[in-house]
Amino acid sequence: MKVFKFGGASLESIERIHKVGAIVQSFPEEKLLIVISAMGKTTNELEKVAQNFYLRKREIAAQLLYNIEQQHIDVAAALLGNRDHVIFQQLQQFFTEAEWTLGEKPLRSFDYYYDQLVSLGELLSTAIVSAFFNQTGIQNTWLDVRDVFRTDDNFRDANIDWAVTQRSITEKVLPLFNDTNIVIAQGFIGSTDQNESVTLGREGSDYSAAVFANMLDAESQTIWKDVEGLKNADPKLFPNTINIPEISYSEVIEMAYYGAQVIHPKTIKPLQNKQIPLLVKCFLNKDLPGTVIREDADHTQLPPIIVLKQNQVLITVTSRDYAFITEDKISDIYEIFHGLKIKINLMQNAAISFSCCIDNNPEKIEQLIKALHQDFKLAYNEGLQLLTVRYYQNGLLDELSNGRTVLLEQRSAVTIQRILK
Ligand code: ASP
Ligand code: MG
Repeated sequence: MKVFKFGGASLESIERIHKVGAIVQSFPEEKLLIVISAMGKTTNELEKVAQNFYLRKREIAAQLLYNIEQQHIDVAAALLGNRDHVIFQQLQQFFTEAEWTLGEKPLRSFDYYYDQLVSLGELLSTAIVSAFFNQTGIQNTWLDVRDVFRTDDNFRDANIDWAVTQRSITEKVLPLFNDTNIVIAQGFIGSTDQNESVTLGREGSDYSAAVFANMLDAESQTIWKDVEGLKNADPKLFPNTINIPEISYSEVIEMAYYGAQVIHPKTIKPLQNKQIPLLVKCFLNKDLPGTVIREDADHTQLPPIIVLKQNQVLITVTSRDYAFITEDKISDIYEIFHGLKIKINLMQNAAISFSCCIDNNPEKIEQLIKALHQDFKLAYNEGLQLLTVRYYQNGLLDELSNGRTVLLEQRSAVTIQRILK
């Protein structure tokens, strides 16, 4: 059994969906669990529907939803060549449910409604691809992953109930492979025990695939992307990037943690725990070697790895009464960050102050100021970048920081981080 994951970019045009079909067809003997995310930028569009609904701009929300509906119907019609296929009824059903949500008064949290609406993207894309595959002779079974992935109700970042989900996968998913070689499931979504839809965090389909790989004891997981494989830096930001043929789980987890948008950070653990290799391959040319991520990768040829996180804020918290920022104070401050779900990207403490670098989210920063202002003075500096280089060379570092002010720097034997203005 292999697990494949196709992301939004691989479904953003009819031509690309055909390419996805050709890739799957080139594994005729294989049992494949295929995880698919929403087409193109659908998730972003659905986020706008949720936001407008919650602001009670219902007409705008309905119009945006209607646009998404038309786009998907057009794609399905182009792929299937007719509008009579049963798939159109299924799509209709999904939209009717979303319209019901739009008809509600928003009495619950924004995150709850977000998940009820945004989960639609993956239901639509998988239903369309599954129908298209079956019509093309790629026989497959469509799975509603919400019947299998059980989570808590931490909407927008739900946590998988490992035991319940494992049981469902063994009892409901494995037997599907007796009748079919291919099962198609949604990435990114799941369900609570109350049958409420949840999402697992933006870009979470990689993680969904890893959960399947772990629980199905897959021999490998492949993430099909529009790039050649993992590179030592984001090619959109840096010239002359180098392809990495193999790299360890731990190195990738570090890269993702520092902000490289290569693979969802939660993806590695389920794979590492069962020693399942993760392959990153290009769906535009499946013969390119790509990247293998596994435990004992050979790192002797590894180039410097560069990660640049944009739109950062450096916050300095200083105690008003000159009290030392000791462990108990740091623990109080941390609790506030944790409560507001603010992730600290880098931190440093001094006698009466504590500095940290976080993503710029004005709403959260406002809440943070409110929560801290009684005991602490807060200063912050916006519009910064957090540069991380692993296996750094000094010449390269100076080149990357050229002409910029370094507001803070941390260095270990392997990693250097700089906050740049
Ligand atoms: N469609 C979701 C997103 O765009 C999940 C994913 O792509 O992995 O965030
Ligand atoms: Mg996506």
